[in-house]
Amino acid sequence: MIRILPDQLINQIAAGEVVERPAAVVKELIENSLDAGARRIDIELEQGGIGLIRVRDDGAGIPKNELPLAFQRHATSKIASLGDLERIASLGFRGEALPSILSVSRMRLTSRTAQDAHAWMLGGEGKLDSAAPVPAAHPPGTGVEVRDLFFNTPARRKFLKTESTEFRYAQQAVERIALSHFEVAFSLKHNQRRVLDLAAADREATRQARIEAICGGEFVAQSQQLDASRLGMRLYGWIGLPSFARSQPDLQFFYVNGRFVRDRLAAFALRRAFADVMHSTHHPAYVLYLEIDPTLVDVNVHPQKTEVRFREAARVHDLLFGAVHQALRGLRPDPVRHHRV
Ligand code: ADP
Ligand code: MG
Repeated sequence: MIRILPDQLINQIAAGEVVERPAAVVKELIENSLDAGARRIDIELEQGGIGLIRVRDDGAGIPKNELPLAFQRHATSKIASLGDLERIASLGFRGEALPSILSVSRMRLTSRTAQDAHAWMLGGEGKLDSAAPVPAAHPPGTGVEVRDLFFNTPARRKFLKTESTEFRYAQQAVERIALSHFEVAFSLKHNQRRVLDLAAADREATRQARIEAICGGEFVAQSQQLDASRLGMRLYGWIGLPSFARSQPDLQFFYVNGRFVRDRLAAFALRRAFADVMHSTHHPAYVLYLEIDPTLVDVNVHPQKTEVRFREAARVHDLLFGAVHQALRGLRPDPVRHHRV
C-alpha cells in the first residue's frame, strides 16, 4: 500500500542527510545567523553538543508571523526562483535545516526584529508544540537552543562518537566558518569553558590574530600570502611553506565564494602544486579563497552544501595549480644569487 508519510517522519528522513551530528547543527545554525546579517555569533555547547547547542546572534530576526513558516519544510526567505538558485549569494537556500533539526531534538527558537518590543518563541519536541509563538525575552536577533539531539531516533544516536570527539567536530565547523567571515565576531564555549573568542577583524592585524587563533602561530610565521586573478576568477589567501608540511591534512581550508567546500579537484590541484617541494607522505597547509562568478558553480549538489560542481573545472584547476606553484617557485632559493656575497 502506498501512503503519504507524516510530516515529522519526512523531516526525520531529511535530517538523516542534513543533521548527521552536532557539528552539522552548529554549521546550519551559524549559517542562518550569517545569512541574517549577524555581526556577533555566540555558540555554547554542552556534552559535545549532544546535550545542548545554543547559537545566539544579533541579526535581523524573524517577524512573529513568519516564525511558524521558518519551521516548515521547503520554506525559505532566501530564494524565490530558479534564477536565484543559479546565482546564489546566501549560505542557505533549501529551507530544510530548521524542520530537520526540530524533528530530532527538543528545540526552541526565540527571535526579535528591530521593530518588535519583545521577542517571540516557538519550539517543541520532535515537532512544534503549537503554531502560535509565545512572548519571550531576547535582545534583537535570534537565539536557537537544541537539546537532546536524536532523543527520539536511538539508532542515529548510537552512531555518535564520544562527547570530546563530537565537540572537536563542532569546533572545526565553527573554525571553518570563522575563517571566511572575518567581519563577524564569534565565541565558542564548551561545558561553560571558553574555547574561542574571536573579535571582529576588519584590519589586517586582527585578521592575522584570527588565523593565529585557529591555525596556530607557527602557520602564520611559516606561510606566504598569495593573490592571483585569472579569467575573471580570483584566488587569494595563505599557503604554508614546504617546511610547514603536516603529517595530517588538518590545515586545509578551501572556500568558494565564502563557503567552505571539500573538492577533490581543488585538493588534487593543490597537492600537485606542492608535489616538487614536499614529500608525498606529507600534507600541505593552506587557507585559500576562490572568488568566481556564482553562475559558474553549482552549490546544490549535496544537502550539506560542502560539495560544489564547477562549470569550467579545467580553468579552476589551472588557476589553483598555476598560482600556488608559482608562489612556491618564488620561495625556492636561487642557487646563483644565494652564493653571491
Ligand atoms: P534556509 O536557511 O535554507 O532558508 P532554514 O530551515 O535554515 O532554511 O531556515 C528557514 C528560514 O528561517 C530562513 O530562510 C530564514 O528566513 C529564517 N531564519 C532561520 N534562522 C534565522 C536566524 N538566525 N535569523 C534570522 N532568520 C532566520
Ligand atoms: Mg539555513
